[in-house]
Amino acid sequence: MKVMVCGGAGYIGSHTVVELIASGHAVVVVDSHANSSPKALERVERITGEKVENACVDVRDAAALAGVFSRHDFDAVIHFAALKSVGESWQKPLTYFDNNISGTIVLMQEMARAGVGKFVFSSSATVYGAPDFSPIPESAALRTASPYGRTKLIAEELIEELSHVDPGFKAAVLRYFNPVGAHQSGLIGEDPSGTPNNLMPYICQVAVGRRPYLQIFGNDYPTRDGTGVRDYVHVVDLARAHVRAVEHLGKGGETFTVNLGTGCGHSVLEVVAAFERVSGRQVPLSYAPRRAGDVAEYFASPELARRLLGWKAEYDLDRMCEDAWRWQSMSPDGYV
Ligand code: NAD
Ligand code: UDP
Repeated sequence: MKVMVCGGAGYIGSHTVVELIASGHAVVVVDSHANSSPKALERVERITGEKVENACVDVRDAAALAGVFSRHDFDAVIHFAALKSVGESWQKPLTYFDNNISGTIVLMQEMARAGVGKFVFSSSATVYGAPDFSPIPESAALRTASPYGRTKLIAEELIEELSHVDPGFKAAVLRYFNPVGAHQSGLIGEDPSGTPNNLMPYICQVAVGRRPYLQIFGNDYPTRDGTGVRDYVHVVDLARAHVRAVEHLGKGGETFTVNLGTGCGHSVLEVVAAFERVSGRQVPLSYAPRRAGDVAEYFASPELARRLLGWKAEYDLDRMCEDAWRWQSMSPDGYV
């Protein structure tokens, strides 16, 4: 298949481009580089040995998008291009609404004009808010806890509505749990700008000496060791799920929504212990108050993804830490 990958220079997008090419698909990346470096794609080219066409275009720019559609005959679009910081979305809600919701609408409009009907969308477990129980099935109640979460929920609703109205439009809505890790080459990985918000990149930067210690946000949660529990999933497993999703749509599959997680929760202390074990580095830590809006524990039911796509996460927590550490130690300052 020939696939437009919007946001393909970003963390999950770059790993997905590698897996798409490895599976024999042709890829064109569309990325404004609002939160990524074009160097990520040079690294993707080193890994795959193939040239990757990269259009530096904002998905809200209808005319520029139309230009890309006119130059290629795409079978499908994978849409990663969004702003993703929950904290920042409280400071700049309209920026998030515009980038994430308007961006998705403009992209779907240009797909319709170009006659491309297969769409894979990056959603998030954030649409479950504070879930009533885990493992969380896709049928669980949806509620958002931030402007960022609202953008994902609204985009999901628009995609669902469009699939009902337009018989030519078929979508895969993928709800990611906590993507971590890196490609095993160590050439691509997560490169947050500024202070990392997420646990794994923060641990990596402490281990490599860029930050003095990890703050653990809360050790009085009702979990096995008091720290927050999440479903960490290796980014390469996640990337492979996108290949399955796009191929499923390519074979005539109907619109669907699935969780992408391992089905297994790990606490912050368990992640730190695994990281120390595989890296041989100490991660100094201190305990801080709970982070506003954090949930004690949640993990996915990945059953539907297994049944529908034949996808199951293969890599365990040690492997996630090992690959994250290889990337961080090979590129201590990211893509500079
Ligand atoms: P990322 O920031 O690394 O990648 C997003 C990419 O999209 C970047 O390259 C950025 O430059 C680009 N982009 C942003 N706005 C754009 C626009 N208007 N036009 C063109 N390009 C634009 O983020 P990521 O971690 O790879 O996340 C990818 C997707 O997955 C996002 O939609 C995110 O909301 C979603 N998601 C991420 C996580 C996570 O923890 N990383 C979890 C759940 C869902
Ligand atoms: N966390 C932490 N210190 C940090 C970053 C995260 O203790 O510097 C904790 C956080 O409270 C949560 C877990 O690590 O329990 C995962 O956080 P992350 O932000 O990576 O994912 P999310 O909370 O968005 O699922």
